[in-house]
Amino acid sequence: MDIFNKIGKKATETYKVTAEKTGKLAKEAKLKMEINTYKSNVQELYTEIGEKVYLKYSAQEELTLEDIQDELNKVDTISEQIERANEEMMKLKDKVKCTNCSFEMDSEFKYCPNCGAKQNK
Ligand SMILES: [Zn+2]
Repeated sequence: MDIFNKIGKKATETYKVTAEKTGKLAKEAKLKMEINTYKSNVQELYTEIGEKVYLKYSAQEELTLEDIQDELNKVDTISEQIERANEEMMKLKDKVKCTNCSFEMDSEFKYCPNCGAKQNK
């Protein structure tokens, strides 16, 4: 193989790695945005719940969980979505959570650097 072929091959390989990395970064950025949107949705729901509670209080009415059940259910649903997006993000970064203390670490670690628990895979 002559030198020009070698250089050409190397450039192609470098390009491949970069494209893969860029794809990962783009996915990561998208997930981050998703998580942020979910989080602000949850904040809005908390505000709605707070308003309902206050309105009941100022009308001197009793508040039951049923009054805010809709909002509570939505918070539950969104929290699950946040959890899922976080898991996807960790997979993307090749990270796992400690089975004992939930510490985030590289997926190839056999022991948790935080609590020392053995990781079963
Ligand atoms: Zn741990």
